[in-house]
Amino acid sequence: MTGHRHIPQEDLTLYAMHALGSEEQAQIAAHLEGCEECRANLAKESATLALLAMSVEHRRLPEGARNRFLERIKAAPLPASRVVGITDRVPSPQRPAKARTASRWIPWAATAALLLISLVLGVKLRQANDELRSKSALVEAQADASQRAQRVLELLTAPAARHVLLTAGTPHPAPSARAAYLASRGALILEASNLAPIAPNKTYELWIIPANGHPPVPAGLFRPDAAGNAHLVLPDIPSGIKAKALGVTVESASGSTSPTLPIVLAGALPADTE
Ligand SMILES: [Zn+2]
Repeated sequence: MTGHRHIPQEDLTLYAMHALGSEEQAQIAAHLEGCEECRANLAKESATLALLAMSVEHRRLPEGARNRFLERIKAAPLPASRVVGITDRVPSPQRPAKARTASRWIPWAATAALLLISLVLGVKLRQANDELRSKSALVEAQADASQRAQRVLELLTAPAARHVLLTAGTPHPAPSARAAYLASRGALILEASNLAPIAPNKTYELWIIPANGHPPVPAGLFRPDAAGNAHLVLPDIPSGIKAKALGVTVESASGSTSPTLPIVLAGALPADTE
């Protein structure tokens, strides 16, 4: 395999795997020193082996290298007789290197086979590990999510849980008003609270919105006190106005005959109001 001939690919494979006998390793090393072409082939071979070790794809070794592994493993169970047989015989002149190294091949073949097997197993193991890792990560994430959902549910349904409303700064209650209205008597009482203060030249004005679509009827002026409260008791209004709603606007101090938008408070009357 050495000498004038270039080194066969399968031997380069074995050389790259350090699977040859020390003598053959040395011979190939010597050839490589003087042969650029074989060095290039070796580099290519080493890259293939590296890919084999790292890739998740299964890459085939050269057929020749595989066959030689198998041959040498077959030879392994009968080391003694083989060695004796070869040394007793006169070495064949065509194959001196092989005869000399045959005895060394047995442990090396086993080593090489183990190396090959461990490469293949390594790739498969890495694949299996990656798969397992991603699956268990998924399961963990799902368990995490469902545990969180469970805790949220427990909190929201626990009788001992205390519910608090948090707001920014001092709360400012919305203005509101309650009114009682008796159309047949022309009687009305309004009680308002939390009204926003208004300028001295302004007033709040109450309006009755007739159900028949006529224009709103003014129903009295009022101003809030310091606390925002105001009362309007029995203002002077005509009797018999069927109302669909009451509304409050802000008007100039003397009041208006028609409301100025916006309506700051409004409420619809129940349909059966008389
Ligand atoms: Zn060469």
